[in-house]
Amino acid sequence: DELVSQIAAGEVVERPASVVRELVDNALDAGATSITVRLLAGGVRLITVEDDGCGIPREELAIALRRHATSKIRNLHDLESVATMGFRGEALAAIASVSEMSVLSRPAQQEGAYLLDARSGELRPAARNPGTTMEVKELFFSTPARRKFLKTDATELAHCVEAVRRHALTRPGVGFAIWHEGKLVEQWRATLPPRSDEAQPDNAALQQLEQRAMDKRLADVLGPDFLEQSIVVNYQAGHVQVRGRAGLPDAARSRADQQFCYVNGRFVRDKVLTHAARAAYEDVLHGHRQPVYALYISIDPMRVDVNVHPTKIEVRFRDSREVHQAVLHGVENALAAPRA
Ligand code: ADP
Ligand code: MG
Repeated sequence: DELVSQIAAGEVVERPASVVRELVDNALDAGATSITVRLLAGGVRLITVEDDGCGIPREELAIALRRHATSKIRNLHDLESVATMGFRGEALAAIASVSEMSVLSRPAQQEGAYLLDARSGELRPAARNPGTTMEVKELFFSTPARRKFLKTDATELAHCVEAVRRHALTRPGVGFAIWHEGKLVEQWRATLPPRSDEAQPDNAALQQLEQRAMDKRLADVLGPDFLEQSIVVNYQAGHVQVRGRAGLPDAARSRADQQFCYVNGRFVRDKVLTHAARAAYEDVLHGHRQPVYALYISIDPMRVDVNVHPTKIEVRFRDSREVHQAVLHGVENALAAPRA
């Protein structure tokens, strides 16, 4: 079973950033509002992810590390319409098989915290506020061939930061911090929800609040100029809704490193989407300049398959033409709109 896990791990865990992505996924699924990532040596020596989410009860700690253990899916129907990020129950088992892993967790209603050491299976009481800390040490220590393929610490760190950035751009209500070698590398503060003693906002006001929160996060992550240098995308066609912001041609870059697409809240890299966005810029961007954009696509979960690859970065649309058209026209319309 150890071997099976290590083979599965090869698909899920490619580098430190893959671990960071899975652990942050889990923290978000657990309802965290604050997530702190700490790294040593680009994440190769140590990755810890702390959250203030729902925690894992003492008696479930060992189960969470087992293969195909997931608390997020109960039957095949769930698989079709899965709303949470993780749902295959493979990530923790895979990570544990190629590292020295421990889990420290406490649900709010549980008296104290417990620490589980994955390798020895030892479980002991510990201290912690409600929430979870996942610790992953010495990634690929038992598979030196894989470890050899890792790049410099700086490169691995950049990939880790990118993994968190992708989450941050879709969750403005969650605060993120990334530390490397004891230094704060990035911090994106949460936009606070309206206080409960304030008047309950109606739907339109709520949408405006969400928009403002999203704009703030976009500016924090993509730079303060991005709001001025981009146009709001808000487009609906058939089953597909496209929202977000498209950078003006002036904001284009030499590298395609600021192109973010989300499908139902999940970051994806997808040819249909990139092609559609690129096509929308055809008349306004020349040469090899790369547009900047953050596009959030909402589509009936039954019309998109998110279970095509273990790293979950790819999707398959039932009707990719419909999605292509929606993105193309959504961005085109935004770019053509008269500006104030
Ligand atoms: P999946 O996310 O696909 O369910 P994982 O292997 O990533 O599978 O996680 C296994 C289980 O461990 C989850 O279903 C969840 O119940 C629990 N878990 C993992 N991380 C956390 C966390 N940060 N907070 C609370 N529960 C967690
Ligand atoms: Mg998961």
